[in-house]
Amino acid sequence: MVVFACAECGAVMTARVARVALPDHSSQKYGHDLLSGLLEPGTYVVDPGEDRPWEPRQPEPEPEEHGVRLQTYCISGPPNRIGIAPGDVRGTVFIPDRLGGCCCGWDGQYGPNLACAGCGRPVATRVDDCGFWQVVWLEPDAVRPVAVDGPVQRVLDWPELPSTPPVDALGFWSPPWEAAVAVALAHLLAVSGGKRVSVPDGPVAEAFRRAIDILFPPGPPERHLVLAGPGLSAAITDIALVPRHPQTGEAWPCDAGAVVPMAADVWTYLAYHDDRRLVPAAHGMPAGVRRDDPPPLLPHHLFRPDGRVFLSTLERLAPVRQPWLRRIYDRVKDRPYMDPFV
Ligand SMILES: [Zn+2]
Ligand SMILES: [Zn+2]
Repeated sequence: MVVFACAECGAVMTARVARVALPDHSSQKYGHDLLSGLLEPGTYVVDPGEDRPWEPRQPEPEPEEHGVRLQTYCISGPPNRIGIAPGDVRGTVFIPDRLGGCCCGWDGQYGPNLACAGCGRPVATRVDDCGFWQVVWLEPDAVRPVAVDGPVQRVLDWPELPSTPPVDALGFWSPPWEAAVAVALAHLLAVSGGKRVSVPDGPVAEAFRRAIDILFPPGPPERHLVLAGPGLSAAITDIALVPRHPQTGEAWPCDAGAVVPMAADVWTYLAYHDDRRLVPAAHGMPAGVRRDDPPPLLPHHLFRPDGRVFLSTLERLAPVRQPWLRRIYDRVKDRPYMDPFV
């Protein structure tokens, strides 16, 4: 375990934390409600940020206002910024002139908004405005990790990992699902070589097939995506959809020709809940059943992956340099909220 300390004065800035993998929804912007925390208390992540093999965006002039350079730290920040749960921050004070212009909380648009209480150096950006997963991003150059004694983090075995249902308590498609499927879809495109891919019927088809129909060139499938992971057959001949461990970030080891990693909680649901459809189905239920058992809340539209998460994932994958994939990228970038994305 580590604590992070101020690089200037050495004051301890965090509780004891252990590293976990960066969640797929870490850069997601969703709706206008207050969202929950991005990370479990006692954990931290490192966001590689601008680690892109190909930069499709033109650099934009950065506006100056009252001598403060406007930046957006909430969605993207400096490379290797460190994310922790807001409750794990210690010994910081807000920087008053970095807090303006937000709605229900802070979004970090003016740069780091937390300073070390000891020496005053800006050290972190708290993000808790509506539409953002709540998190504090430590500036990688302003803090340093210090190893401390603490309970050793136990890495969960694959079968112990929990699953996340696709619909949240209010009856909306789960935003982390929309992000996780978007990330997997970008990886699927990257390994497909531009050839159309078939997917198994059931939840995998409900999550991916419409997007494949829209994004891939028409024609019969030449490649085949199959689930592979704990408890499933290892005999995969083409593309394997495998779980990615939430603590280590490692993909399920597999001999398939190509591998598409997916957040393990979503993968587990896809693999083991074949009886549940990802499309609204309550109205097809027999009246006698519905009388005794009110239908669950179900979304009013088909499942759609997050278009902006899809784009930001694709930007970091080397195959996006290839013209066929660049064309798909450009098409989605022009209309990121259009079918098949949300
Ligand atoms: Zn300090
Ligand atoms: Zn708001």
